[in-house]
Amino acid sequence: MKRRPLIVGNWKLHNTVGEAIALVEGLKRALGDVAGCEVAVCPPFTALYAVRGALCGTAIALGAQDCHWAERGPFTGEVSPGMLRDVGCRFVIVGHSERRQHFGETDAVVNQKLLAALAAGLNPILCVGERARDREAGRTQEVVAAQLEGGLAGVSAARLPEVVVAYEPVWAIGTGTPARPEDAAAVAVGMRQCLRAGWGESSEAVRLLYGGSVSGANVRGFLGQAVIDGALVGGLSLDPVEFARIVEAARSLET
Ligand code: PEP
Repeated sequence: MKRRPLIVGNWKLHNTVGEAIALVEGLKRALGDVAGCEVAVCPPFTALYAVRGALCGTAIALGAQDCHWAERGPFTGEVSPGMLRDVGCRFVIVGHSERRQHFGETDAVVNQKLLAALAAGLNPILCVGERARDREAGRTQEVVAAQLEGGLAGVSAARLPEVVVAYEPVWAIGTGTPARPEDAAAVAVGMRQCLRAGWGESSEAVRLLYGGSVSGANVRGFLGQAVIDGALVGGLSLDPVEFARIVEAARSLET
């Protein structure tokens, strides 16, 4: 099945409102026509509203980096999926390894967030990936399958295509050392098998991204793998020229 490539920028804990707008302006200058490819940026919560305004009239979608599982209530400091919709988000990242590592998010928590995001009409981007020690122990497929099944528990086959899954080996994030494209593809094949076993035919529509030290120089290796439909880009999404190179690579593979 032909799936539309998707390139997502995760800005993490970077950019004031002014810096975020400057980055969007830089992106608008650097990015040509993005037709044939979907592009989204995920600024911090505080910049979402301003970035939505700055993106107006472009084909770049807005996403958030996390959400809470409840729509309202006594959850000081949290932001609900409905609030993200209200501010113009289409996507929300859930289960990023930094949230799992620093904020103790379990698969059960990630699952609650993902279900709440779907209920609010957002497209969740579920991040999964093994740590270096899992990889060394030969447990990559097992760990990734467990995160996938745990994160997607309770999602119906009808709603599954609204979910995007990002395979992000933890050891490759922010290290400058990406996975080898053929290794990422092998894991992605296992992920597709897992999705097919659980959700059948509708899993074919789920887009699988690779994330972990993606750059303009290496992205073609990943996008050239038939099982990989795009990229989740962290550090280099803060550089408009480099991010535009990554998008251009996705577009050129498409045409
Ligand atoms: C990420 O944080 O999702 C990520 C992939 O980061 P980086 O591109 O910096 O490795």
